Amino acid sequence: MNTNTFAALGCNAALVAALDRRGYTTPMPVQAETFKAGLEGRDLLVQSQTGSGKTLAFGLPLIHRLTSEKYPQALILAPTRELAQQVGEELRSVDRSLNIALLVGGTPYQPQMKALHYGSSIVVGTPGRVMDHLDRGSLDLSKISMVVLDECDEMLNMGFIEDVEKILAAAPKGPQTYLFSATLPPPIASLAKRFLKDPVKIQLSGSGEQAQHADISHAACLVPDHARVKALVNLLLLDNPSAALIFTKTKAETEEVAEALTQAGLSAAFLHGDLVQASRTRILNQFKSGKLHLLVATDVAARGLDISGLPLVVHLGIPHQLENYIHRSGRTGRAGAKGTSMSLVAWKESRILMAWARRGGLNIVWRPIPQQSDLRTAAAVRLAEKLKAADTHAHRAEAESLLAAYAPVDLVSKLLNFIEREEATGFDIPEEPARDRVPFKREGASRPFSKQPFDRNEKRPFEKKPYEKRPYEKKPFEKKPYEKKAFEKSPYSAGDKVGFKPKPKADRPTGTPFKKKS
Ligand code: AMP
Repeated sequence: MNTNTFAALGCNAALVAALDRRGYTTPMPVQAETFKAGLEGRDLLVQSQTGSGKTLAFGLPLIHRLTSEKYPQALILAPTRELAQQVGEELRSVDRSLNIALLVGGTPYQPQMKALHYGSSIVVGTPGRVMDHLDRGSLDLSKISMVVLDECDEMLNMGFIEDVEKILAAAPKGPQTYLFSATLPPPIASLAKRFLKDPVKIQLSGSGEQAQHADISHAACLVPDHARVKALVNLLLLDNPSAALIFTKTKAETEEVAEALTQAGLSAAFLHGDLVQASRTRILNQFKSGKLHLLVATDVAARGLDISGLPLVVHLGIPHQLENYIHRSGRTGRAGAKGTSMSLVAWKESRILMAWARRGGLNIVWRPIPQQSDLRTAAAVRLAEKLKAADTHAHRAEAESLLAAYAPVDLVSKLLNFIEREEATGFDIPEEPARDRVPFKREGASRPFSKQPFDRNEKRPFEKKPYEKRPYEKKPFEKKPYEKKAFEKSPYSAGDKVGFKPKPKADRPTGTPFKKKS
């Protein structure tokens, strides 16, 4: 079958036109693979990376199969509010007439109840809020004919899988079910076994353990914990990405890092689950529109985010599992764009990252910590380029009078000084020296580094230290005069029961623990 166009796949003309308006002329591989089976009503078990076009992979057949009836016909479950929101927006972008109820936490119930009451045919939500609506009786799943479980492994990681099972049990037997997951750990495989009927299995290359995504390059930098944020500042100043999503492990860290970046003159904000929904939406919109360049987030807050053209993801320390690393990295390299996933790791984490690279088939390029000298060189190159393109007429008169007042070399040095003061200059970070097996070895690094990586099998020369005899110092014996101390009575002694002080009567518990037998 020709899968080069949406029309050839069998998409209706209205959808083809809408996709065309969005600039989508060629189906992405996952869309080409799922469309026909989805349209025929088959269950689907799809293992594909985030950012591969999976929303429309289930969305297009789903929209084709909707009837004009005004009751929930399709239920889409997603792990996070943001992903649920994105799914809703993506579906609406190709069909404005869709009635979608968005059931996510952190937002008021009233508009959600209204949407359900007035007959939404698609319900998109997070498991927690969908459960709440089921409990309140505001959501009726009795006529559901399609169910989508999006980023199922993430729902498992976030502890939602029990809720998902309860929701599936509340739906009538046998709706068409689409299960999308980047990885298929045993609990997901078992869920698929119980809830999918003879599914069409689709596994796109680059899924699962073999995580190398063609459009994402992986890089890392070995940096001790205490210098990590400074190294991040230097890295951002040097590479000057148009935007970057920076991951930290804790909520507190997101705030600290965003603050440090702002102080270093970079425009940054933080995103974590404790922010009210309105703030989260505002920050995300600023980031998506390019007004905000740097976003520091926790895994949970940034799950499922789709920021088109995001060129850089930074991991400040590695996440708990390879799967999380893959998901984080999947925020870049989306829809055919190239991106970099960069880790700033301390020694121990670098070993884990290298083990993950072997397991996931990732090719990690180790970089040195960018130094102030690198920033200066890069700034000089940028300045030289700007000078080439700069207008020489605008300030001619001032230039001539300045040249009359100063020697040319003095004048240029002064001006360069001004320029340098205008630009953020980054930090000077002591170089971690390298040994042969360190991930990156910078020429000339020399300071001894106690926690160097070593190969357990490698024989290291035994260094015998010469025995140093320390001179024996004989100290004269000092006789201390005997001091007689007065006997102090313990405040807790009472009568002959030493250490026990009876409570005053008023403090004793009243009432008897046992009932007296009459
Ligand atoms: P998803 O995996 O659904 O989050 O999609 C990743 C990105 O790919 C989104 O920004 C989509 O809008 C975009 N996308 C989806 N389908 C296509 C297509 N056929 N051509 C180009 N971009 C697409």
